[in-house]
Amino acid sequence: MEREGVNTNNSMVYFALKVKNMIDLEILKEQRLKFVNTLCQYLKTPSLEIYYEQNPKSFVRNIVALTIDGKLCKDILKELTPYMLVATPLERLYHVVFDFYEKNPVKCKICGNPTEFVKQFSKGYQIYCSSNCRMLDQKYINNKALAKYFKETGYKNPSQNPDVKKKKIETTIKHFGCSHINYSEEIKEKRRKKYFSTCQTAFAIFAISAI
Ligand SMILES: [Zn+2]
Repeated sequence: MEREGVNTNNSMVYFALKVKNMIDLEILKEQRLKFVNTLCQYLKTPSLEIYYEQNPKSFVRNIVALTIDGKLCKDILKELTPYMLVATPLERLYHVVFDFYEKNPVKCKICGNPTEFVKQFSKGYQIYCSSNCRMLDQKYINNKALAKYFKETGYKNPSQNPDVKKKKIETTIKHFGCSHINYSEEIKEKRRKKYFSTCQTAFAIFAISAI
């Protein structure tokens, strides 16, 4: 009986905390909306997106340097993103404009780890946490494409497909007059010239060093 009481108490506390956070979030949302509207008035623009399109390079600099009601925008941005102890004004502004309320809000597509903020307003956060995850995803995409190709054609990859092989030969004949690029007289001649000029250079170097 006593235990139940404790449990109820705990869940009550949890519920109260949750409500408090929700209220905090609502207040923060309202403050951000007010800030964005005031910013638009100061910058004489209908929306920040339009202002960014017109001034992509100076966008963040112009906003950060502004003073609203005696307060630097740089400091207002800190107040509007209190969950980030350390962050650039650019990252804070990104959170305010795109409605993020937690630190490292974007998680890696592959492993779920937080991703880095790209230092550009138009790019935001990386999709992957590392180059390793990017490569893994590329592998997955490639495998999926090959599996789809196999299902559709019955061949593991295009180079095994006789239709593709035939087309490749036809294209080579069209461009070089023979079925394989190695058979082309033009290519053979080019290779010969390249080989001899390399030999001559090598010989010249050898002759000079021998003197
Ligand atoms: Zn990852």
